[in-house]
Amino acid sequence: VVALAGVDKWFGPLHVLQGIDLTVHRGEVVVVIGPSGSGKSTLCRAINRLETIDNGSITLEGRPLPQEGKELARLRSDVGMVFQSFNLFAHKTVLENVTLGPIKVRGTKRTDAEKRARELLDRVGVGQQAAKYPAQLSGGQQQRVAIARALAMDPTLMLFDEPTSALDPEMIKEVLDVMVDLARGGMTMIVVTHEMGFARTAADRVVFMSDGAIVEESTPDDFFTNPRSERAQDFLGKIL
Ligand code: ATP
Ligand code: MG
Repeated sequence: VVALAGVDKWFGPLHVLQGIDLTVHRGEVVVVIGPSGSGKSTLCRAINRLETIDNGSITLEGRPLPQEGKELARLRSDVGMVFQSFNLFAHKTVLENVTLGPIKVRGTKRTDAEKRARELLDRVGVGQQAAKYPAQLSGGQQQRVAIARALAMDPTLMLFDEPTSALDPEMIKEVLDVMVDLARGGMTMIVVTHEMGFARTAADRVVFMSDGAIVEESTPDDFFTNPRSERAQDFLGKIL
């Protein structure tokens, strides 16, 4: 689905992505972990072109990422992104948040968009909240609405950047459950998270980043029981 080859990114003198090679196939779930500042968010942002890259290539479904205009808008909706902060439109209801993209970008009829939005909201367990505004929901509920909103565009790939790290502990599980459900349903996913339970249950592969480079790539089992690099051993020692 998505392939990065030799991707470099600098922020001024800072080399934040250093020759990243990464391929994610259809239906695969890849968990990206690594210390703060290692470039995980930049990697996600590069994949849906929220950041430009300085070297290398990124292709989605075999085509290079579009640079601008309509094509770029389409790319952004083909790649669903869920961030740490929920980023819902505050002045729109939950239902409107989920139908806006399909109506505006995909040209879906309102009645069809609403029907599908209600199905998705039910699926993530917030069907009862459709008429409310984001501020009237808990963080966990808002994050599930954000997931439903991304899914409403029928994305080919979902990117999650620490989707649970701003949530209270009791809400983390309800969001992770939705993500596990998506993973089991065959969604292609790249997930930046420190939730090792999620990585163990849902990941096909774990990618460990450090200082802008992919240092290690393995199955969750291998990674957690037998990390090869010193940096990964160090990191796991701190978080487990
Ligand atoms: P965290 O776990 O804290 O979210 P991360 O792995 O997601 O970290 P990034 O946010 O990708 O790391 O940042 C990688 C590096 O790039 C960091 O050193 C960061 O300070 C730097 N950086 C990120 N965005 C910018 C920017 N817009 N301008 C300059 N430097 C940036
Ligand atoms: Mg980050």
